[in-house]
Amino acid sequence: MPAATSLLTPCPFFIGGDWIESKNGGTPVFNPSIGEIIAECPAGTAQDVEAAVEAAHAAFPAWMETPAVERARILGRFKMLLEDNFEDIVRSNTREHGKTLTESRGDVKRGIEVVEFALGVPSLMMGEVQENIARGIDCEAIRQPLGVCAGITPFNFPAMVPLWMYPIAIACGNTYVLKPSEKVPLTAIKIAKLLEKAGLPKGVLNIVHGGREVVDALLTHPKVKAISFVGSTPVARYIYEMGTKHGKRVQSNGGAKNYVVLMPDADAENSTRGVIEAAFGCAGERCMAGSTAVVVGAAEKSILPTLVEATRRIRVGPTDREAQPDMGALITRQHRDRVQELISAGEQQGAKVLADGRGVRVSEAPNGFYVGATILDHVENGMTVARDEIFGPVLNVMHMEDLDAAIELANKSAFGNGASIFTRSGKAAREFKHRAKAGMIGINIGVPASMAWFPFNGWDESFFGDLHMQGREGVQFFTQQKVTTSRWFSFGEGDIWHREK
Ligand code: NAD
Repeated sequence: MPAATSLLTPCPFFIGGDWIESKNGGTPVFNPSIGEIIAECPAGTAQDVEAAVEAAHAAFPAWMETPAVERARILGRFKMLLEDNFEDIVRSNTREHGKTLTESRGDVKRGIEVVEFALGVPSLMMGEVQENIARGIDCEAIRQPLGVCAGITPFNFPAMVPLWMYPIAIACGNTYVLKPSEKVPLTAIKIAKLLEKAGLPKGVLNIVHGGREVVDALLTHPKVKAISFVGSTPVARYIYEMGTKHGKRVQSNGGAKNYVVLMPDADAENSTRGVIEAAFGCAGERCMAGSTAVVVGAAEKSILPTLVEATRRIRVGPTDREAQPDMGALITRQHRDRVQELISAGEQQGAKVLADGRGVRVSEAPNGFYVGATILDHVENGMTVARDEIFGPVLNVMHMEDLDAAIELANKSAFGNGASIFTRSGKAAREFKHRAKAGMIGINIGVPASMAWFPFNGWDESFFGDLHMQGREGVQFFTQQKVTTSRWFSFGEGDIWHREK
């Protein structure tokens, strides 16, 4: 049921320090818990991008000249404001995304940590000097910002993913244009208002909403120097190809399919908790979701039954109120239907449904977009559910005889975001860490997502580019080096030590 227009939350652009209401119609933003429209996200145009890029370009010289220490101080105030307004941001996040309040707190916290990391920019941007690299010659390498950078973000972490990008970019002296997901634009706006309040000069951060027209205008704009993208793999590949073709630096994170190996010696309780969190946390709408459990040998008896029982107990429900369920809704009605269709495709192709979340009833919110926690057992490579990213609360279970076979299976995946193992054996853990073909490894951790001080390190179809987001690679991405080689001659003739009297 659409709310009356006057009740919709405003969704303005932010260009050159002004909050601008767009007259263009756009796409509905839902509260997935109840299936109601809460805002309309305007469909920006190439002209809106032009205005935002020009504002960012105009703000760049003064921002670049602002000492890194002063830039960091503004980010310090921003961090304090984020903490002071934490619960307000959390509730906005849950309202437009549907995840639980606890999950939203995690989302916002991880984002604040990136700001915390970016506060170190005076040290992080330090260069290198080698005195006397040749006789009488010194060499130094310094880091300078690129100019206007842009970010395009997905729906699943409305707070965290935009914060992976612009705090580091602006800390390094760049200016920025953000295009948030049209499904969750409201939290990004709320957070940007706090950065404005922290004293960020006009035009340093800009926001343009919309879809493909906005993205393409950013990808082809000659004044945009770098693009950061997070989203599904087909779009990530497109962004990388288009962006690099137009001479930009690109870091482009794609989708994933992450394996969690359960060894027979693993602790049943801890590994069950780890897998439940990995598979069903954020209703599985997570690029680090542990969406396939590889049950090795006797783990079939020691762990799988506990896992199935715990999955059947997961309560689904609305998250936009005080009483919280274990798991919230999916982002849209269409996505809910797709996830249910994929479960049915898995069943038709031979998987056994051990826990079935299709058609789950939530009496207090009958119009919400719910799918209950689901387990598909005996999934085989070649099935649609084994290949495609489901991005919902569905755990595939595959059975393998030993660790070698489990690693071989996981390494067949085209993606390479995360891979985890639950075991008590140091030898098995080491072997897995060494051989698994993924950029983020968990040992007795179901969701090994890197924290802000380390790169968010996808491989293969999960990442296109060279320098990842976060950590030192993030700083390298948003800066270019300048190497100066210098030699000084004495004033006048000869050298200063043998001057004629
Ligand atoms: P999506 O690819 O549909 O959209 C991401 C962004 O791209 C949005 O801002 C959207 O407006 C834009 N977009 C969509 N289609 C486009 C097109 N054809 N051309 C240009 N722009 C387009 O992704 P989503 O559904 O919002 O997010 C879920 C996906 O994101 C999942 O695949 C998930 O694994 C992935 N993800 C990856 C990471 C990571 O770090 N690897 C993190 C979070 C989410």
